[in-house]
Amino acid sequence: MRKPIIAGNWKMHKTMEEALDFSDKVKGLVPSNGQVETVICAPFLFLDRLVRGVDGYHIKIGAQTMHYEEKGAYTGEISPAALKGIGVSYVILGHSERREWYNETDEAVNKKVLSAFQFGLTPIVCVGESLEQRNKGETNRHVESQVSKALQGLTEEQAKQVVIAYEPIWAIGTGKSSTAEGAEEVCSQIRQTVKNQFSKDAADSVRIQYGGSVKPENIREFMDCPNIDGALVGGASLKPDSFLSLLEATV
Ligand code: PGA
Repeated sequence: MRKPIIAGNWKMHKTMEEALDFSDKVKGLVPSNGQVETVICAPFLFLDRLVRGVDGYHIKIGAQTMHYEEKGAYTGEISPAALKGIGVSYVILGHSERREWYNETDEAVNKKVLSAFQFGLTPIVCVGESLEQRNKGETNRHVESQVSKALQGLTEEQAKQVVIAYEPIWAIGTGKSSTAEGAEEVCSQIRQTVKNQFSKDAADSVRIQYGGSVKPENIREFMDCPNIDGALVGGASLKPDSFLSLLEATV
């Protein structure tokens, strides 16, 4: 019922040449039977060329952050209107690296989520606990709070379309992924949070990804969990072969 969604998060990797080389290599090879939604979230600079390069193929392009205002005196920022204008479909919001290094608060994430919908972009909202929070037994409370604050003010229809990425911070880029059981437990609680905040319908529709050291060898364990509908993948999304293997293991 929920279509799996695999999103690559390139972070601050690749040059234009490398980005276009990647998309040329993978675009004809991604599953085209509609069984899995495929997204590449790239640095701003490459988005326009990527969107045009994959036109007609089964890949959508996403940004990794954005401002929440349509326009204004925000030097160096990129607006949702600008992203939509070049054909970007998705935007990652509230990634733990943005929260840590760029002061992205729950309030700012909420503004951006609302703004993304206003401009026709689908948000991939990232949540997840630090190792310290996990060790103190605060995971569930922390993640629930992040989810409910991020989705505040959305309509039920919008809540159904959100993608939530559960990414425990200690698992990102460390090679130490969560266990499938551990990830499923938190993802099931996220679905319960959406149910409490909106409705059973919204909870049944919202797609929840796991992220944090996902690779071709372990993605199936996560995809087999009833409450995990996809993955947000950093390191293992950077090489064409590895990215295609992730997709193959998903369908
Ligand atoms: P990773 O990154 O797959 O390299 O752990 C995931 C992410 O930060 O989205």
